[in-house]
Amino acid sequence: DRIISGEADIQELSFEQNLRPQNLKQYIGQDKVKENLEIFIQAAKLRQETLDHVLLYGPPGLGKTTLAAIIANEMGVNIRTTAGPAIERPGDLAAILTALEPGDVLFIDEIHRLPRTIEEVLYPAMEDFCLDIVIGKGPSARSVRLDLPPFTLVGATTRAGSLSAPLRDRFGVLSRLEYYNETQLTDIVIRTAEVLDTEIDNLAAVEIARRSRGTPRIANRLLRRVRDFAQVRGNGIVDEQLAKEALELLQVDRLGLDHIDHKLLRGIIEKFRGGPVGLETISATIGEEAHTIEDVYEPYLLQIGFLQRTPRGRIVTDLVYRHFQMEVPKTE
Ligand code: ATP
Repeated sequence: DRIISGEADIQELSFEQNLRPQNLKQYIGQDKVKENLEIFIQAAKLRQETLDHVLLYGPPGLGKTTLAAIIANEMGVNIRTTAGPAIERPGDLAAILTALEPGDVLFIDEIHRLPRTIEEVLYPAMEDFCLDIVIGKGPSARSVRLDLPPFTLVGATTRAGSLSAPLRDRFGVLSRLEYYNETQLTDIVIRTAEVLDTEIDNLAAVEIARRSRGTPRIANRLLRRVRDFAQVRGNGIVDEQLAKEALELLQVDRLGLDHIDHKLLRGIIEKFRGGPVGLETISATIGEEAHTIEDVYEPYLLQIGFLQRTPRGRIVTDLVYRHFQMEVPKTE
């Protein structure tokens, strides 16, 4: 498993649970999203209404689940959490919806993976807070309308484009989470160190932030590994030198790239003279699935300007040659 993966691994979940900021003030970065949510939450509270349905989208590990819990907290309601693939039949969704208390937040992670048949049950639930249930079979089947308590659906997805248009249109608030900058990640590392009761100096926090690919989950994971290193090899205090040594050992370079990123970028340079080269060809060359390259490896490389997507395929930019201390090829 990649240490710089944005996805959580199973053991990490309980660790992350303790690190979650509880309210919007503690939630670092994403200023535009926060500012909007603050206004919508206040307005809903003033009108004593439930908050509009919210769709949070962006790459994994940027804090969608955290934000969903904060929304519920700020509204002073409970949160019920489920995920798209966990809801298989309309009855599963009906059971969840009918158990909600008025005003509750229902959080559906990976909402783009909801089966279409379930989506159709969700439409009237989102729009009119009711469920249309078919009772019986054959000619005696009839549809019964069930009222639901008003609730707020918070959906999270890494692929807003895969959401069907009718579902997307039923969200009143669409918030896109962005990668975090170095300063924000440094603040997150320092905050996490405090929660973990670990002494860290500012430069060490910056060093970890820089290698975290704009992603809080990765920042927290790297900090945890560096802290292990400090306890075993040092005196428990994380300083810059120790952080650098630990990160070298973890084979995460100074921009947060690991051996798979290196393989991908060097592959395009060495086999295709820097591109353009099609996704399928890259996939066959480096032995990774095309959709994994597209969803997992590429977003950050595009974000830092190392890769460009063109109609003719992927191109590596001059920044990559410089990063690898290679000569930048002259354009013909
Ligand atoms: P996934 O898409 O995999 O569900 P996610 O986007 O929901 O990921 P979270 O689980 O919310 O990500 O966040 C991952 C970790 O990063 C959590 O431990 C959380 O505490 C921390 N984190 C995320 N965003 C912030 C933030 N803005 N400030 C402080 N910590 C954060």
